[in-house]
Amino acid sequence: MGILSAAALAVITAAVQGANSGILASAESVRQAEEAAIDLLVHARSSDPLVRMDHERRLASHLVDADRRLATPEEHAAAHEAVDAVGEYLLASRAGAPGTEASLEQAYAAVGALVDVNMAHVRAARASAARWQMIANGAGISLALAMVLASWLLGWWLKTQALRPVLELSDALARFGGGDPLVRAREVGPEEVARMARDFNRMADALARQRQGQAAFLASVAHDLRNPISALKLTAAAVPVGGPLPPEARTRRAFDVVRRQAVKLERMLNDLLDTARIEAGEVEMRVERVDLRDHVRSALELFEGTSAHHRLVSEVPDHPVPVYCDPLRIEQVLANLLSNAIKYSPGGGEVRVTLRVASGEAVIQVADQGIGISERDRATIFEPFRRTGSLRSAVAGTGLGLYVVRRLVEAHAGSVAVASVEGMGTIFTVRLPLAHDTPQLVPESAPAAPAAP
Ligand code: ADP
Repeated sequence: MGILSAAALAVITAAVQGANSGILASAESVRQAEEAAIDLLVHARSSDPLVRMDHERRLASHLVDADRRLATPEEHAAAHEAVDAVGEYLLASRAGAPGTEASLEQAYAAVGALVDVNMAHVRAARASAARWQMIANGAGISLALAMVLASWLLGWWLKTQALRPVLELSDALARFGGGDPLVRAREVGPEEVARMARDFNRMADALARQRQGQAAFLASVAHDLRNPISALKLTAAAVPVGGPLPPEARTRRAFDVVRRQAVKLERMLNDLLDTARIEAGEVEMRVERVDLRDHVRSALELFEGTSAHHRLVSEVPDHPVPVYCDPLRIEQVLANLLSNAIKYSPGGGEVRVTLRVASGEAVIQVADQGIGISERDRATIFEPFRRTGSLRSAVAGTGLGLYVVRRLVEAHAGSVAVASVEGMGTIFTVRLPLAHDTPQLVPESAPAAPAAP
Protein backbone atom coordinates (compact mmCIF):
# COMPACT_ATOMS: atom_id res chain seq x y z
CA MET A 1 0.00 0.00 0.00
CA GLY A 2 2.93 2.30 0.74
CA ILE A 3 4.40 1.60 -2.71
CA LEU A 4 1.01 2.28 -4.32
CA SER A 5 0.70 5.60 -2.47
CA ALA A 6 4.22 6.63 -3.46
CA ALA A 7 3.59 5.77 -7.17
CA ALA A 8 0.26 7.69 -7.21
CA LEU A 9 1.93 10.66 -5.55
CA ALA A 10 4.74 10.66 -8.14
CA VAL A 11 2.28 10.52 -11.09
CA ILE A 12 0.07 13.30 -9.68
CA THR A 13 3.05 15.53 -8.82
CA ALA A 14 4.47 15.12 -12.34
CA ALA A 15 1.09 15.97 -13.91
CA VAL A 16 0.55 19.05 -11.71
CA GLN A 17 4.11 20.20 -12.39
CA GLY A 18 3.54 19.77 -16.16
CA ALA A 19 0.37 21.86 -15.98
CA ASN A 20 2.14 24.55 -13.92
CA SER A 21 5.10 24.86 -16.29
CA GLY A 22 2.60 25.06 -19.22
CA ILE A 23 0.85 27.93 -17.41
CA LEU A 24 4.17 29.71 -16.76
CA ALA A 25 5.35 29.30 -20.39
CA SER A 26 2.04 30.58 -21.82
CA ALA A 27 1.97 33.51 -19.37
CA GLU A 28 5.50 34.50 -20.44
CA SER A 29 4.48 34.13 -24.09
CA VAL A 30 1.46 36.40 -23.41
CA ARG A 31 3.81 38.98 -21.90
CA GLN A 32 6.09 38.83 -24.96
CA ALA A 33 3.11 39.08 -27.36
CA GLU A 34 1.77 42.12 -25.47
CA GLU A 35 5.21 43.77 -25.58
CA ALA A 36 5.24 43.05 -29.35
CA ALA A 37 1.80 44.72 -29.70
CA ILE A 38 3.12 47.83 -27.91
CA ASP A 39 6.25 47.86 -30.12
CA LEU A 40 4.00 47.59 -33.17
CA LEU A 41 1.93 50.63 -32.11
CA VAL A 42 5.00 52.71 -31.19
CA HIS A 43 6.64 51.74 -34.53
CA ALA A 44 3.48 52.83 -36.47
CA ARG A 45 3.22 56.19 -34.63
CA SER A 46 6.93 57.08 -34.80
CA SER A 47 8.54 58.91 -37.74
CA ASP A 48 12.08 58.81 -36.38
CA PRO A 49 13.97 56.14 -38.38
CA LEU A 50 16.22 55.30 -35.42
CA VAL A 51 13.26 54.73 -33.08
CA ARG A 52 11.49 52.68 -35.76
CA MET A 53 14.59 50.52 -36.27
CA ASP A 54 14.92 49.92 -32.56
CA HIS A 55 11.24 48.82 -32.34
CA GLU A 56 11.60 46.58 -35.40
CA ARG A 57 14.47 44.80 -33.63
CA ARG A 58 12.50 44.49 -30.38
CA LEU A 59 9.43 43.30 -32.28
CA ALA A 60 11.43 40.45 -33.83
CA SER A 61 13.01 39.52 -30.48
CA HIS A 62 9.63 39.48 -28.64
CA LEU A 63 7.96 37.31 -31.29
CA VAL A 64 10.88 34.82 -31.43
CA ASP A 65 10.92 34.66 -27.60
CA ALA A 66 7.15 34.11 -27.49
CA ASP A 67 7.41 31.33 -30.07
CA ARG A 68 10.23 29.61 -28.13
CA ARG A 69 8.07 29.21 -25.03
CA LEU A 70 5.00 27.78 -26.72
CA ALA A 71 3.94 24.17 -26.29
CA THR A 72 0.91 23.40 -28.49
CA PRO A 73 0.69 23.29 -32.35
CA GLU A 74 -2.15 25.89 -32.24
CA GLU A 75 0.08 28.31 -30.35
CA HIS A 76 2.95 27.76 -32.81
CA ALA A 77 0.56 28.32 -35.77
CA ALA A 78 -0.72 31.55 -34.18
CA ALA A 79 2.88 32.69 -33.52
CA HIS A 80 3.89 32.02 -37.15
CA GLU A 81 0.85 33.93 -38.38
CA ALA A 82 1.77 36.84 -36.14
CA VAL A 83 5.41 36.76 -37.40
CA ASP A 84 4.20 36.70 -41.06
CA ALA A 85 1.67 39.53 -40.55
CA VAL A 86 4.23 41.71 -38.71
CA GLY A 87 6.79 40.97 -41.51
CA GLU A 88 4.30 42.06 -44.13
CA TYR A 89 3.52 45.27 -42.21
CA LEU A 90 7.25 46.10 -41.83
CA LEU A 91 7.88 45.56 -45.56
CA ALA A 92 4.88 47.74 -46.46
CA SER A 93 5.85 50.47 -44.02
CA ARG A 94 9.48 50.51 -45.23
CA ALA A 95 8.30 50.90 -48.82
CA GLY A 96 5.72 53.53 -47.79
CA ALA A 97 3.14 51.56 -49.76
CA PRO A 98 -0.54 52.64 -49.60
CA GLY A 99 -1.74 49.44 -47.85
CA THR A 100 0.46 50.05 -44.79
CA GLU A 101 -2.50 50.92 -42.53
CA ALA A 102 -4.36 47.72 -43.50
CA SER A 103 -1.28 45.51 -42.92
CA LEU A 104 -0.79 47.23 -39.50
CA GLU A 105 -4.39 46.28 -38.66
CA GLN A 106 -3.67 42.68 -39.73
CA ALA A 107 -0.40 42.46 -37.81
CA TYR A 108 -2.07 43.89 -34.71
CA ALA A 109 -4.95 41.37 -35.06
CA ALA A 110 -2.47 38.44 -35.51
CA VAL A 111 -0.56 39.44 -32.35
CA GLY A 112 -3.92 39.70 -30.51
CA ALA A 113 -4.87 36.22 -31.80
CA LEU A 114 -1.54 34.91 -30.41
CA VAL A 115 -2.43 36.38 -27.01
CA ASP A 116 -5.89 34.77 -27.20
CA VAL A 117 -4.45 31.33 -28.08
CA ASN A 118 -1.98 31.65 -25.23
CA MET A 119 -4.71 32.63 -22.78
CA ALA A 120 -6.82 29.67 -23.94
CA HIS A 121 -3.84 27.43 -23.24
CA VAL A 122 -3.39 28.96 -19.77
CA ARG A 123 -7.06 28.29 -19.00
CA ALA A 124 -6.79 24.69 -20.23
CA ALA A 125 -3.62 24.14 -18.13
CA ARG A 126 -5.33 25.60 -15.04
CA ALA A 127 -8.33 23.33 -15.57
CA SER A 128 -5.96 20.35 -15.93
CA ALA A 129 -4.11 21.31 -12.71
CA ALA A 130 -7.44 21.63 -10.88
CA ARG A 131 -8.48 18.19 -12.20
CA TRP A 132 -5.23 16.63 -11.01
CA GLN A 133 -5.67 18.27 -7.63
CA MET A 134 -9.12 16.71 -7.33
CA ILE A 135 -7.68 13.34 -8.34
CA ALA A 136 -4.93 13.79 -5.71
CA ASN A 137 -7.50 14.61 -3.02
CA GLY A 138 -9.63 11.60 -3.98
CA ALA A 139 -6.63 9.28 -4.10
CA GLY A 140 -5.34 10.58 -0.73
CA ILE A 141 -8.69 10.09 0.99
CA SER A 142 -9.16 6.63 -0.57
CA LEU A 143 -5.67 5.54 0.40
CA ALA A 144 -6.12 6.82 3.97
CA LEU A 145 -9.42 4.89 4.25
CA ALA A 146 -7.79 1.80 2.74
CA MET A 147 -4.95 2.03 5.24
CA VAL A 148 -7.31 2.36 8.20
CA LEU A 149 -9.24 -0.66 6.93
CA ALA A 150 -6.04 -2.63 6.32
CA SER A 151 -4.69 -1.91 9.82
CA TRP A 152 -8.02 -2.88 11.34
CA LEU A 153 -7.98 -6.13 9.33
CA LEU A 154 -4.36 -6.76 10.36
CA GLY A 155 -5.23 -6.23 14.04
CA TRP A 156 -8.20 -8.55 13.73
CA TRP A 157 -6.08 -11.22 11.98
CA LEU A 158 -3.29 -10.94 14.56
CA LYS A 159 -5.76 -11.25 17.41
CA THR A 160 -7.85 -14.08 16.07
CA GLN A 161 -5.38 -16.04 13.97
CA ALA A 162 -1.68 -15.27 14.53
CA LEU A 163 -1.81 -14.58 18.28
CA ARG A 164 -4.47 -17.15 19.11
CA PRO A 165 -1.98 -19.93 19.99
CA VAL A 166 -0.05 -17.51 22.24
CA LEU A 167 -3.26 -16.39 23.96
CA GLU A 168 -4.33 -20.02 24.38
CA LEU A 169 -0.95 -20.92 25.86
CA SER A 170 -1.06 -17.98 28.25
CA ASP A 171 -4.61 -18.97 29.25
CA ALA A 172 -3.48 -22.57 29.89
CA LEU A 173 -0.55 -21.31 32.00
CA ALA A 174 -2.86 -19.05 34.02
CA ARG A 175 -5.34 -21.89 34.61
CA PHE A 176 -2.53 -24.28 35.56
CA GLY A 177 -1.13 -21.68 37.96
CA GLY A 178 -4.66 -21.17 39.29
CA GLY A 179 -4.77 -24.81 40.42
CA ASP A 180 -6.16 -26.81 37.49
CA PRO A 181 -3.59 -29.65 37.11
CA LEU A 182 -5.41 -31.28 34.16
CA VAL A 183 -5.20 -28.31 31.79
CA ARG A 184 -2.94 -28.71 28.73
CA ALA A 185 -2.09 -26.33 25.87
CA ARG A 186 -2.84 -27.04 22.18
CA GLU A 187 0.45 -27.56 20.34
CA VAL A 188 -0.44 -25.34 17.36
CA GLY A 189 0.72 -22.12 15.71
CA PRO A 190 4.22 -20.94 14.78
CA GLU A 191 7.05 -23.38 15.57
CA GLU A 192 8.33 -21.42 18.60
CA VAL A 193 4.87 -21.15 20.19
CA ALA A 194 4.08 -24.84 19.49
CA ARG A 195 7.40 -25.76 21.10
CA MET A 196 6.58 -23.69 24.19
CA ALA A 197 3.18 -25.42 24.39
CA ARG A 198 4.89 -28.83 24.05
CA ASP A 199 7.38 -27.96 26.81
CA PHE A 200 4.56 -26.75 29.04
CA ASN A 201 2.60 -29.99 28.45
CA ARG A 202 5.69 -32.07 29.23
CA MET A 203 6.27 -30.11 32.43
CA ALA A 204 2.61 -30.52 33.43
CA ASP A 205 2.81 -34.29 32.72
CA ALA A 206 6.02 -34.57 34.76
CA LEU A 207 4.41 -32.69 37.67
CA ALA A 208 1.34 -34.95 37.43
CA ARG A 209 3.59 -38.04 37.54
CA GLN A 210 5.51 -36.58 40.47
CA ARG A 211 2.23 -35.87 42.29
CA GLN A 212 1.07 -39.44 41.65
CA GLY A 213 4.45 -40.73 42.87
CA GLN A 214 4.16 -38.67 46.03
CA ALA A 215 0.62 -39.95 46.68
CA ALA A 216 1.82 -43.54 46.19
CA PHE A 217 4.79 -42.79 48.41
CA LEU A 218 2.55 -41.42 51.19
CA ALA A 219 0.37 -44.54 50.95
CA SER A 220 3.41 -46.83 51.14
CA VAL A 221 4.98 -44.86 54.01
CA ALA A 222 1.70 -45.07 55.94
CA HIS A 223 1.63 -48.79 55.24
CA ASP A 224 5.28 -49.28 56.28
CA LEU A 225 4.77 -47.25 59.44
CA ARG A 226 1.81 -49.43 60.39
CA ASN A 227 3.94 -52.61 60.55
CA PRO A 228 6.39 -51.53 63.27
CA ILE A 229 3.58 -49.82 65.18
CA SER A 230 1.48 -53.04 65.12
CA ALA A 231 4.56 -55.02 66.26
CA LEU A 232 5.07 -52.53 69.11
CA LYS A 233 1.40 -52.75 70.14
CA LEU A 234 1.42 -56.57 70.12
CA THR A 235 4.65 -56.70 72.13
CA ALA A 236 3.33 -54.22 74.68
CA ALA A 237 0.09 -56.23 74.98
CA ALA A 238 2.16 -59.25 76.07
CA VAL A 239 2.97 -57.36 79.28
CA PRO A 240 -0.43 -57.05 81.09
CA VAL A 241 -1.17 -53.77 82.85
CA GLY A 242 -1.16 -54.37 86.62
CA GLY A 243 -0.47 -58.14 86.17
CA PRO A 244 2.72 -60.03 86.88
CA LEU A 245 5.61 -59.58 84.44
CA PRO A 246 6.16 -62.47 82.00
CA PRO A 247 9.22 -64.68 82.57
CA GLU A 248 12.54 -62.89 82.07
CA ALA A 249 13.38 -64.58 78.75
CA ARG A 250 10.07 -63.45 77.20
CA THR A 251 10.45 -59.95 78.62
CA ARG A 252 13.95 -59.71 77.12
CA ARG A 253 12.64 -60.91 73.72
CA ALA A 254 9.84 -58.35 73.93
CA PHE A 255 12.29 -55.53 74.66
CA ASP A 256 14.47 -56.71 71.79
CA VAL A 257 11.48 -56.45 69.44
CA VAL A 258 10.64 -53.00 70.83
CA ARG A 259 14.27 -51.84 70.30
CA ARG A 260 14.44 -53.13 66.71
CA GLN A 261 11.07 -51.65 65.75
CA ALA A 262 11.98 -48.32 67.35
CA VAL A 263 15.25 -48.28 65.34
CA LYS A 264 13.31 -49.06 62.16
CA LEU A 265 10.79 -46.27 62.87
CA GLU A 266 13.56 -43.83 63.68
CA ARG A 267 15.38 -44.62 60.43
CA MET A 268 12.24 -44.16 58.35
CA LEU A 269 11.45 -40.86 60.04
CA ASN A 270 15.07 -39.69 59.63
CA ASP A 271 14.96 -40.49 55.90
CA LEU A 272 11.74 -38.50 55.57
CA LEU A 273 13.10 -35.55 57.52
CA ASP A 274 16.40 -35.58 55.61
CA THR A 275 14.62 -35.65 52.28
CA ALA A 276 12.42 -32.74 53.30
CA ARG A 277 15.51 -30.76 54.39
CA ILE A 278 17.46 -31.62 51.22
CA GLU A 279 14.52 -30.62 49.02
CA ALA A 280 14.25 -27.32 50.92
CA GLY A 281 18.04 -26.81 50.61
CA GLU A 282 18.36 -26.70 54.41
CA VAL A 283 20.93 -29.40 55.13
CA GLU A 284 23.26 -28.00 57.74
CA MET A 285 26.86 -29.23 57.36
CA ARG A 286 29.39 -29.11 60.21
CA VAL A 287 32.54 -29.72 58.23
CA GLU A 288 35.75 -30.68 60.04
CA ARG A 289 38.99 -32.44 59.21
CA VAL A 290 38.67 -36.10 60.20
CA ASP A 291 40.39 -39.42 59.75
CA LEU A 292 37.81 -41.35 57.76
CA ARG A 293 38.93 -44.66 59.31
CA ASP A 294 37.33 -43.70 62.66
CA HIS A 295 33.95 -43.07 61.08
CA VAL A 296 33.97 -46.22 58.97
CA ARG A 297 34.61 -48.16 62.17
CA SER A 298 31.91 -46.40 64.19
CA ALA A 299 29.32 -46.84 61.39
CA LEU A 300 30.09 -50.53 61.34
CA GLU A 301 29.81 -50.79 65.13
CA LEU A 302 26.21 -49.62 64.90
CA PHE A 303 25.30 -52.74 62.96
CA GLU A 304 27.36 -55.22 64.92
CA GLY A 305 25.07 -57.90 66.30
CA THR A 306 21.98 -56.68 64.44
CA SER A 307 21.84 -59.81 62.26
CA ALA A 308 22.86 -63.32 63.17
CA HIS A 309 23.07 -64.29 59.48
CA HIS A 310 25.53 -61.62 58.36
CA ARG A 311 29.24 -61.34 58.89
CA LEU A 312 30.44 -57.74 58.97
CA VAL A 313 34.03 -57.27 57.79
CA SER A 314 36.02 -54.04 57.52
CA GLU A 315 39.27 -53.27 55.72
CA VAL A 316 40.95 -49.94 56.46
CA PRO A 317 44.52 -48.83 55.66
CA ASP A 318 47.05 -48.48 58.44
CA HIS A 319 47.65 -44.80 57.67
CA PRO A 320 45.17 -41.95 58.28
CA VAL A 321 42.74 -41.02 55.50
CA PRO A 322 42.13 -37.29 56.06
CA VAL A 323 39.05 -35.66 54.56
CA TYR A 324 37.02 -32.54 55.23
CA CYS A 325 33.44 -33.64 55.92
CA ASP A 326 30.52 -33.57 58.32
CA PRO A 327 31.33 -36.85 60.13
CA LEU A 328 27.73 -37.44 61.24
CA ARG A 329 26.50 -37.10 57.65
CA ILE A 330 29.17 -39.49 56.36
CA GLU A 331 28.23 -42.00 59.08
CA GLN A 332 24.60 -41.60 57.97
CA VAL A 333 25.66 -42.39 54.37
CA LEU A 334 27.48 -45.53 55.54
CA ALA A 335 24.57 -46.52 57.81
CA ASN A 336 22.12 -46.32 54.87
CA LEU A 337 24.42 -48.43 52.67
CA LEU A 338 25.05 -50.98 55.44
CA SER A 339 21.37 -51.19 56.30
CA ASN A 340 20.55 -51.85 52.62
CA ALA A 341 23.35 -54.43 52.32
CA ILE A 342 21.80 -56.37 55.21
CA LYS A 343 18.16 -55.82 54.13
CA TYR A 344 18.73 -56.96 50.57
CA SER A 345 20.77 -60.06 51.36
CA PRO A 346 18.07 -62.10 53.13
CA GLY A 347 20.16 -65.26 52.79
CA GLY A 348 22.88 -63.67 54.94
CA GLY A 349 26.56 -63.73 53.96
CA GLU A 350 29.38 -61.29 54.19
CA VAL A 351 29.00 -57.51 54.24
CA ARG A 352 32.39 -55.97 53.63
CA VAL A 353 33.32 -52.31 54.11
CA THR A 354 36.59 -51.26 52.49
CA LEU A 355 38.36 -47.92 52.81
CA ARG A 356 41.31 -47.05 50.55
CA VAL A 357 42.95 -44.14 48.76
CA ALA A 358 42.99 -43.97 44.98
CA SER A 359 43.61 -41.11 42.49
CA GLY A 360 43.70 -38.51 45.26
CA GLU A 361 40.35 -39.62 46.66
CA ALA A 362 39.14 -41.55 49.66
CA VAL A 363 37.19 -44.55 48.34
CA ILE A 364 34.69 -46.42 50.51
CA GLN A 365 33.03 -49.58 49.22
CA VAL A 366 30.15 -51.47 50.81
CA ALA A 367 29.76 -54.91 49.25
CA ASP A 368 27.19 -57.59 49.98
CA GLN A 369 26.31 -61.04 48.65
CA GLY A 370 22.59 -60.32 48.35
CA ILE A 371 19.94 -60.35 45.65
CA GLY A 372 21.70 -57.80 43.42
CA ILE A 373 20.06 -55.07 41.31
CA SER A 374 19.00 -55.44 37.68
CA GLU A 375 20.62 -53.16 35.09
CA ARG A 376 17.30 -51.36 34.50
CA ASP A 377 16.79 -50.66 38.22
CA ARG A 378 20.38 -49.49 38.66
CA ALA A 379 19.53 -46.49 36.48
CA THR A 380 16.83 -45.24 38.85
CA ILE A 381 17.62 -46.36 42.41
CA PHE A 382 19.18 -42.98 43.34
CA GLU A 383 15.94 -41.11 42.50
CA PRO A 384 13.62 -40.24 45.40
CA PHE A 385 10.74 -42.65 46.23
CA ARG A 386 12.23 -45.39 44.01
CA ARG A 387 11.61 -48.81 45.52
CA THR A 388 12.66 -51.62 43.24
CA GLY A 389 13.54 -55.29 43.30
CA SER A 390 11.70 -58.44 44.30
CA LEU A 391 11.93 -57.65 48.03
CA ARG A 392 10.31 -54.22 47.94
CA SER A 393 7.04 -55.38 49.50
CA ALA A 394 8.71 -57.78 51.93
CA VAL A 395 11.27 -55.29 53.25
CA ALA A 396 10.31 -52.05 54.97
CA GLY A 397 11.63 -48.88 53.35
CA THR A 398 10.78 -45.49 51.92
CA GLY A 399 12.77 -45.50 48.69
CA LEU A 400 14.64 -42.47 50.06
CA GLY A 401 17.80 -44.04 51.53
CA LEU A 402 19.91 -43.95 48.35
CA TYR A 403 18.55 -40.53 47.36
CA VAL A 404 19.74 -39.16 50.72
CA VAL A 405 23.10 -40.94 50.21
CA ARG A 406 23.61 -39.36 46.78
CA ARG A 407 22.66 -35.85 47.88
CA LEU A 408 24.85 -35.97 51.00
CA VAL A 409 27.87 -37.33 49.10
CA GLU A 410 27.41 -34.69 46.38
CA ALA A 411 27.24 -32.01 49.09
CA HIS A 412 30.79 -33.16 50.02
CA ALA A 413 31.91 -32.77 46.36
CA GLY A 414 32.02 -36.56 46.10
CA SER A 415 30.24 -39.20 44.03
CA VAL A 416 28.48 -42.52 44.53
CA ALA A 417 28.16 -45.41 42.06
CA VAL A 418 26.77 -48.91 42.06
CA ALA A 419 27.94 -52.20 40.51
CA SER A 420 25.88 -55.33 40.82
CA VAL A 421 25.22 -58.81 39.48
CA GLU A 422 21.71 -60.12 40.02
CA GLY A 423 21.63 -63.01 42.45
CA MET A 424 25.31 -62.49 43.35
CA GLY A 425 25.59 -59.23 45.20
CA THR A 426 26.11 -55.47 45.02
CA ILE A 427 28.95 -53.02 45.60
CA PHE A 428 28.28 -49.35 46.35
CA THR A 429 31.33 -47.08 45.90
CA VAL A 430 31.55 -43.66 47.55
CA ARG A 431 34.38 -41.29 46.57
CA LEU A 432 35.32 -38.24 48.64
CA PRO A 433 38.11 -35.72 47.92
CA LEU A 434 41.10 -36.04 50.26
CA ALA A 435 41.86 -33.04 52.49
CA HIS A 436 43.86 -30.75 50.17
CA ASP A 437 46.10 -29.50 53.00
CA THR A 438 47.39 -33.01 53.75
CA PRO A 439 51.02 -32.44 54.91
CA GLN A 440 52.45 -35.46 53.13
CA LEU A 441 51.02 -37.51 50.34
CA VAL A 442 48.66 -40.18 51.54
CA PRO A 443 49.89 -43.47 50.15
CA GLU A 444 47.60 -45.02 47.57
CA SER A 445 46.34 -48.50 48.45
CA ALA A 446 45.71 -51.35 46.08
CA PRO A 447 42.01 -51.90 45.29
CA ALA A 448 40.39 -54.19 47.80
CA ALA A 449 39.10 -57.50 46.53
CA PRO A 450 35.30 -57.17 46.56
CA ALA A 451 33.37 -59.55 48.74
CA ALA A 452 30.72 -60.05 46.11
CA PRO A 453 30.72 -60.72 42.34
P1 ADP B 1 14.52 -48.50 50.35
O1 ADP B 1 15.58 -49.38 50.85
O2 ADP B 1 13.81 -47.76 51.42
O3 ADP B 1 13.58 -49.16 49.38
P2 ADP B 1 16.65 -47.10 49.05
O4 ADP B 1 16.65 -45.74 48.38
O5 ADP B 1 17.63 -47.27 50.14
O6 ADP B 1 15.17 -47.32 49.49
O7 ADP B 1 16.91 -48.16 47.92
C1 ADP B 1 16.20 -48.10 46.70
C2 ADP B 1 16.10 -49.46 46.07
O8 ADP B 1 17.39 -49.90 45.69
C3 ADP B 1 15.57 -50.50 47.00
O9 ADP B 1 14.15 -50.59 46.92
C4 ADP B 1 16.23 -51.79 46.51
O10 ADP B 1 15.44 -52.43 45.54
C5 ADP B 1 17.51 -51.31 45.86
N1 ADP B 1 18.71 -51.57 46.70
C6 ADP B 1 19.36 -50.68 47.48
N2 ADP B 1 20.44 -51.26 48.07
C7 ADP B 1 20.48 -52.51 47.62
C8 ADP B 1 21.38 -53.63 47.85
N3 ADP B 1 22.46 -53.53 48.66
N4 ADP B 1 21.10 -54.78 47.22
C9 ADP B 1 20.03 -54.89 46.39
N5 ADP B 1 19.16 -53.90 46.13
C10 ADP B 1 19.38 -52.73 46.74
